[in-house]
Amino acid sequence: MGRVSARAVLTVIALGAAAVIALWWHSTPDVRGLGGWLTGAGEILGLLAGYGVVVLVALMARLPPLERGIGTDQLARWHAMGGRYVVSLVAAHGLLILWGYAIEAHTTVLSETATLLTQYPDVLMATVAGFLLLGVGIVSMRAVRRRVRYETWYYLHLYTYLAIALAFSHQFAVGQSFINNLAARFWWSAMYLTVAVLVLWYRVAVPLRAFARHGYTVIGVKSEGPGVISVYIGGKHLDELAAEPGQFFRWRFLTRALWWSSHPYSLSAAPGADVLRITVKDIGDHSGALSRLRPGTRVIAEGPYGAFTAGQPGRGVLLLAGGVGITPLRAMFSTLPGPVTLIYRASSEQDIVFRDELDAIAAARGATVYYLVGSRAEIGGDPLSPKMLRSLVPGLEQQEAYVCGPSGMISAAVQALRAAGVPRRQIHFESFEF
Ligand SMILES: Cc1cc2nc3c(=O)[nH]c(=O)nc-3n(C[C@H](O)[C@H](O)[C@H](O)COP(=O)(O)OP(=O)(O)OC[C@H]3O[C@@H](n4cnc5c(N)ncnc54)[C@H](O)[C@@H]3O)c2cc1C
Repeated sequence: MGRVSARAVLTVIALGAAAVIALWWHSTPDVRGLGGWLTGAGEILGLLAGYGVVVLVALMARLPPLERGIGTDQLARWHAMGGRYVVSLVAAHGLLILWGYAIEAHTTVLSETATLLTQYPDVLMATVAGFLLLGVGIVSMRAVRRRVRYETWYYLHLYTYLAIALAFSHQFAVGQSFINNLAARFWWSAMYLTVAVLVLWYRVAVPLRAFARHGYTVIGVKSEGPGVISVYIGGKHLDELAAEPGQFFRWRFLTRALWWSSHPYSLSAAPGADVLRITVKDIGDHSGALSRLRPGTRVIAEGPYGAFTAGQPGRGVLLLAGGVGITPLRAMFSTLPGPVTLIYRASSEQDIVFRDELDAIAAARGATVYYLVGSRAEIGGDPLSPKMLRSLVPGLEQQEAYVCGPSGMISAAVQALRAAGVPRRQIHFESFEF
């Protein structure tokens, strides 16, 4: 399956933005006076916002080349950053248009607001859409998001689809770039329609088709230690998925309590032809409920997703796991070619999962596993310091490094690897948070 690079995607997005500005340029023969300049700036920002929402939705449409080439966590970061720009563009668009129109009509901003809302077609709907986007933006701000449940945030986020639908028609009804330009209206609609079809296809049709084709079913649940279980999911023709160790699926278990939400969990063993395994730490409602799954439970699995997979063979590999971040690395440990070192950081002995499996794999392939267990004082220093990493992994700077764990551990590990001389392009990491 094809994958695209981040640079290629950013180039396409930038070219699209340039085409949007060219459209405004083409449809605006003359800009006069302060009112004209303000209105013109408002129109450009509005067009960019209309284009920006399509890009934001496309990034989250689960397009396989993006998911595999760039990775869901990186796409989610771009989406979050782009979301802030788009909300700012929408707000600035509204304010500049109001101000510009008020100057051109020789009236106050307040009275122009009333005119626009009551006499211009579809502007009221677009204003509601603007406020919806603003609300979603506020709920997504880090300080607010930390305080709301993931599900609350997620379902509020779906209102962006409503906002996009509400704002669509005002673009053609009042946008100078579209009113007399049939071709522009056609291509703009085609852009929106294409992304809508992609969302429906990849987020709805493909998972349902996979459900019917593979018949995913829970075949067993096994305890791996305190609060950690593995779920074995059986299915047919799983080799067709071309899933790779390091990737994850979004799992929707069809029980009365769990069917309505899907959660991402990585494969914790190399995918088999008829069985997949995930390993889950109980940290909340969903992860905690999985220990009660019964064999025979049907599952909708969306994926495989993620770009946290083996790169070009040929280099030595360092796998650096923190806590339950061992799951994708456990799958990679048994399959990556060449010399591999696994460093597994855990706060206590009982937090180590898969010890027997890891030791058996290490013995079978002649690899090394280091368990760094306990507090810094117990270990005798920072377990992730550049010095410690260099002493454990000879030739560290030549290695390809894969890091997975809590976000604090990931940033500390990436910094330490950089300080130890590992080039940035050789460091790969997967965050368990979007
Ligand atoms: C790519 C990826 C791979 C993961 N792999 C594993 C794994 O192999 N093993 C494992 O134990 N955990 C894994 N996780 C984390 C796991 O998804 C969360 O722990 C789980 O969804 C928490 O849900 P909850 O209802 O139990 O807890 P909650 O208390 O509801 O949520 C705790 C946190 O988990 C995240 N989260 C909750 N629901 C979702 C959701 N539907 N989608 C995305 N994030 C959510 C949010 O950051 C939230 O703050 C992975 C996460 C990601 C993003």
